[in-house]
Amino acid sequence: MPSLRLANLIDGRLQAPRDNRWLDVFEPATGQIFALCPDSSPADVDDAVQAAQRAAPAWSATPTEQRARLLNRLADLIEARLEEFAALESRDSGKPLNLARSLDIPRAVANLRYFAAAIVPWSSESHAMETGAINYTLRQPLGVVGCISPWNLPLYLFTWKIAPALAAGNAVVAKPSEITPCTAALLGELSMEAGFPAGVLNIVQGRGPEVGHAIVEHPAVKAVSFTGSTRTGAQIATAAAPQFKKLSLELGGKNPAVVFADADLSDANLDTIVRSGFANQGEICLCGSRLLVQRSIYARFRELYLARVRALRVGDPSDASSDVGALVSQAHYDKVMGCIAQARAEGGHVLCGGDAVQLAGRCAEGWFVAPTVVEGLANDTHTNQHEIFGPVVCLIPFEDEAEALALANGSGYGLAASVWTRDLSRAHRFGAQVDVGIVWINCWLLRDLRTPFGGTKQSGMGREGGTEALRFFTEPKNICIRY
Ligand code: NAP
Repeated sequence: MPSLRLANLIDGRLQAPRDNRWLDVFEPATGQIFALCPDSSPADVDDAVQAAQRAAPAWSATPTEQRARLLNRLADLIEARLEEFAALESRDSGKPLNLARSLDIPRAVANLRYFAAAIVPWSSESHAMETGAINYTLRQPLGVVGCISPWNLPLYLFTWKIAPALAAGNAVVAKPSEITPCTAALLGELSMEAGFPAGVLNIVQGRGPEVGHAIVEHPAVKAVSFTGSTRTGAQIATAAAPQFKKLSLELGGKNPAVVFADADLSDANLDTIVRSGFANQGEICLCGSRLLVQRSIYARFRELYLARVRALRVGDPSDASSDVGALVSQAHYDKVMGCIAQARAEGGHVLCGGDAVQLAGRCAEGWFVAPTVVEGLANDTHTNQHEIFGPVVCLIPFEDEAEALALANGSGYGLAASVWTRDLSRAHRFGAQVDVGIVWINCWLLRDLRTPFGGTKQSGMGREGGTEALRFFTEPKNICIRY
């Protein structure tokens, strides 16, 4: 019998779904059910939206310092239980406990604190006209907003949305992925302890096409911030279009990591390049899955790179020595294994990995895949054009900067790129020309929460982070006064 039964948070109360239907939540490392999650219906969403509508006016009129205080209190409560959150996140998603402890949960805390701090000095512009008038802009909260997040960085991305939405004075109806619902449920409980008024934060658990869709379609939900796949993003855009809803869509990626011959191949940099492909089992939208390497150093780089990838330890996520945990679900495991088979069928040569990893003991039924490196596939193959979202990296050689740029941009996606070079001019040039939303030069995943985050092309629409997020969650209104 699963040990954990989650609840929705609606109108300040933990509630079972109206229909009393439940979804199984699996532990990826063991393949066993360990929790039950509400399989909520549109009626539950409607309850949540109504509660949010009731709460929104008072919340938007609450002084920013008070809103900030509550966000900080929630951050403190999460931080005080960091170990519990990290263990739950690792168990729920299959990610190494070390990663949940060092990245996911601290970043969730940082998200809340960042937007608590950012909202206080936030101001809007004013413009004086020579003709005797002054314009000033009000940035008013939207009312009720929807936040829908994916399974790969569950609490990290959940808080990345709800923090700016709440800070800006909106009431929120949020849905985490049904695959990883646990830490959001725990956050919901703590939000009551922190003192958020009833209805300000509502969390409705359940399936995307039911609960997510109902949030998007609900006429009282004024904007939706979504992170997930390009396919779902397109469905949301279609569903939201008739109501002209404001949308922020953070979608998939097929990111290039570009290694020039003059790159500093220090141990630390090589470790980062490996991490950029395999961190969180490659289940990060920002992972570099197309590794472009200048031909003059290709053979030497490949040797150094493969030695490091082969040394990655796939293991029980709760074991501190594991570098790579389990894939999030049976379905995702099947998809990734199918992608590896397809890479082989397309003529790719698997240099390492390529297989499932069979562990013993409690992880014998878990969904583990070996870090896999493939070469010999052109950039326009299916493998290099479609997001795998698993521990699979393709090596692609290039001759010169022009070819590297053409390959990097030769993708329907445009989320992120990392570039490894000691040539500062090239770094600036390449950074300006590569068609993505985020470029890292000689680093990867260094995140400053003040900076804009998001992608171009099929990687999405809009930007999150810093003032971009606060702008998204408010409506500007210009007032012109003649004097
Ligand atoms: P997904 O299947 O699109 O799901 C994302 C969220 O949307 C989940 O909460 C899902 O609910 C919900 N959903 C599904 N169908 C819906 C619908 N018709 N209407 C409204 N909501 C719906 O994505 P995923 O597989 O969880 O996440 C992996 C994807 O996210 C990858 O493509 C990855 O690149 C992308 N991602 C992007 C970023 C970024 O910042 N650009 C960051 C992380 C991940 P259920 O899970 O309950 O079905």
